[in-house]
Amino acid sequence: MNRILIAEDEPRLVAFLEKGLRAEGFVTTAVADGPTAIARARDDDFDLMLLDLGLPGLDGQQVLRAVRAAEQRMPVIILSARDAVSEKVDGLEGGADDYVTKPFRFEELLARVRVRLRSEGTTEQTVLRHGDLALDLRTRRATVGDRSVELSAREFTMLEVFLRHPGQVLSREQLLSHVWGYDYDPGSNVVDVYVGYLRKKLGKDQVATVRGMGYALAETAG
Ligand code: CA
Repeated sequence: MNRILIAEDEPRLVAFLEKGLRAEGFVTTAVADGPTAIARARDDDFDLMLLDLGLPGLDGQQVLRAVRAAEQRMPVIILSARDAVSEKVDGLEGGADDYVTKPFRFEELLARVRVRLRSEGTTEQTVLRHGDLALDLRTRRATVGDRSVELSAREFTMLEVFLRHPGQVLSREQLLSHVWGYDYDPGSNVVDVYVGYLRKKLGKDQVATVRGMGYALAETAG
């Protein structure tokens, strides 16, 4: 099981990250200021750190320098609203492994977390399957049986979320946060619209409506 230290002072974003990462099987610890981040990174054993640049106490760059000066080699992914190239370069030169600009979609962050942990020795499937559906994450190609299907980026991400949770009912809220990000309007009907697109392209029985709860991949025969 992988343990992730989240250093972020925005409660809504922390809640979004912890909920999403825990649902994927990660163990999370959240801290909201720079000095606590350094102390936890020193005293505990984490596999990866998500680090906000704009932290109170000591900022993310200072935290990163302290962590690297203490010879802690865990991967660090910087989360920041500052998307200036110079900030990015500073972060990477300071010893960060990757950089995600806010606002981001959960799936985008998750993919980067998985890449960093994979290079630490875990393996990950590149083709997700369910029934006659297959999604190749490397070539970004979707197929239904022998038929190749063209998906837009959002449709692809939504299908990926379904395939990573086979046999699970996903609520509109879960799909919104996974596919569109944490700052999306929860009253939006965009999830229903995109489920409609997927049904049109994949076959209308592939995604089932679970009344009052959300959507799920159809059960496979046998
Ligand atoms: Ca902040």
